[in-house]
Amino acid sequence: MEKKSIPLFTERKRIVRSVPLLILMLCLSLCTCAMADSFDDDGMLRLVNREEKITKHYAPDDLVLPDVPTNKKGQKNSIYMRPEAAEALEELFAGALEDEYTLLAVSGYRSYSTQYALFQQKVESVGSKEAAQRTVAPPGASEHQLGLAMDLVSDTFRNLNRAFLETDEGKWVNDHCWEYGFIIRYRAEWSGVTGYKAEPWHIRYLGREHAQAVTELNIPYEEYAAQMRLLPEYVLTYGTAALFEGLYADLISGEYEMIEVLENSVFDAGSENNALQSVTVYYEERNTVTEDALTP
Ligand SMILES: [Zn+2]
Repeated sequence: MEKKSIPLFTERKRIVRSVPLLILMLCLSLCTCAMADSFDDDGMLRLVNREEKITKHYAPDDLVLPDVPTNKKGQKNSIYMRPEAAEALEELFAGALEDEYTLLAVSGYRSYSTQYALFQQKVESVGSKEAAQRTVAPPGASEHQLGLAMDLVSDTFRNLNRAFLETDEGKWVNDHCWEYGFIIRYRAEWSGVTGYKAEPWHIRYLGREHAQAVTELNIPYEEYAAQMRLLPEYVLTYGTAALFEGLYADLISGEYEMIEVLENSVFDAGSENNALQSVTVYYEERNTVTEDALTP
């Protein structure tokens, strides 16, 4: 039987770097159709937390079962994801396997009612809602409801526990998940912003370029989303990591020159291509300066 071959990381990187700009130019010139807003419920950038809950009526209508091993038998029903995230998860697991690490999926999509039941169980065991929500998201506040998050463990460490980060597999996931479009959503140093202690086992899909930007900026997703949602949709859809990092730095320091270039092109039919290209080049050239500016 022929096996699907997965390119090595170095090859992946080269392909990933050269192809997106070409593809986006092609897409932009062909596709003028209305696209789902990235921050809408169905969008890849939807932020979900206790302040920004998702309605109990929301459920993705395109969930699929990723072809990956699970921690326990019979766990397949709990690892559904949106198609793009499922495919990326398969690649992540395959990438880990190339480095001889076996990852195991534990929990993907969870419905509002499942989250409700989980939360109630926790409330009963710890005695109050306050205490419960330190470790379990209340219903509507879990990004598992988006079908874009996965909890995972490995064959050498099978608990959803912070010590996962000390295992080779946990380190691998934390170092490499962005290459496949995922971020580590809850890190210890961000708990003041996210409201959660470290969860090195919980990964969230954002797509390759946004995941790289969030990882390189090294900020909680709340902070990234707060700035990125100010940008035009075509930028969010077709931009590169270098562009997002540059725009983020400018947004937080109140410099809007490049953002205006991108915004103005929306009103000038067909000019988004040029705007995106020129602003991307601007930030790629300014990249080292940006990195300096972000270092305290
Ligand atoms: Zn989780």
